[in-house]
Amino acid sequence: MKILRNLAVVVIAVILVITSLVFLLPLKGSIPILMYHYVVPKLQSSLDVSVEKFEKQMRLIQLLGFKPISLDEFFAIKTGKKAPRGREIVITFDDGNETYVMYALPILERLWFPSANFLILESVTHQLNGSMGAQTVRETSKNPLVTFGSHTLTHEVLPMLELDLAREEMVESKLKLEDLVGYEIKYFSYPTGRLSEEIVDLAEDAGYSLAFTTAEKRALGMKGSRFAIPRIKVKEEDALAIFWYKISGIGSVVSKINRLIEQFHP
Ligand SMILES: [Zn+2]
Repeated sequence: MKILRNLAVVVIAVILVITSLVFLLPLKGSIPILMYHYVVPKLQSSLDVSVEKFEKQMRLIQLLGFKPISLDEFFAIKTGKKAPRGREIVITFDDGNETYVMYALPILERLWFPSANFLILESVTHQLNGSMGAQTVRETSKNPLVTFGSHTLTHEVLPMLELDLAREEMVESKLKLEDLVGYEIKYFSYPTGRLSEEIVDLAEDAGYSLAFTTAEKRALGMKGSRFAIPRIKVKEEDALAIFWYKISGIGSVVSKINRLIEQFHP
């Protein structure tokens, strides 16, 4: 009997700890930034997330009381112009694929969740690789829940280019996208997340307010920079518990600890 009672106490304690973690994390001021590419009914690539899974993830965000914010709000918090209220989250997409307007946006609109999509100028102009075309971009730019950013002219990996060409990718895409959407393009994401110190400086010089990379390891050594902000890659195979683990901030702390261990025991 005593063993059973002790076991019950342990189980209740574990449930209480997990429940508190679910509602306490992430800590105030720690804002997860999700990165998606394609939300599709039929999976084809490792960058795909199914419509069904995406909807479940968005519903979980809502259920756990997260507050999706726009990049403008994130910028205001990041620069100290606005205080975080806690449980903010940012939803971003790379590549400007038309599956964004077809499948992701209707779900986000139903929940009134803002999101951002980083466009590749040439893909928009020539409607390459399933990208939204200019007309769709123009129409969608009027949606108050959508912020468009730049993902370069051609999706070249920037550190592999001559600096002048990299600068052109960043500056020209900004100007041309501004012509297209009719507002200032303030946000940028690096193709494949690859960057270098020179490239990060170029993003600032080009006049962007924030620039995003992919995984945290890409931003190493550039901590605190507004121009090397890591994001969380969401995958189709992430169970909802893993998705929560990623947005809770625990995943980020664990990978920091792992990196520290690797540093001392390479
Ligand atoms: Zn991309």
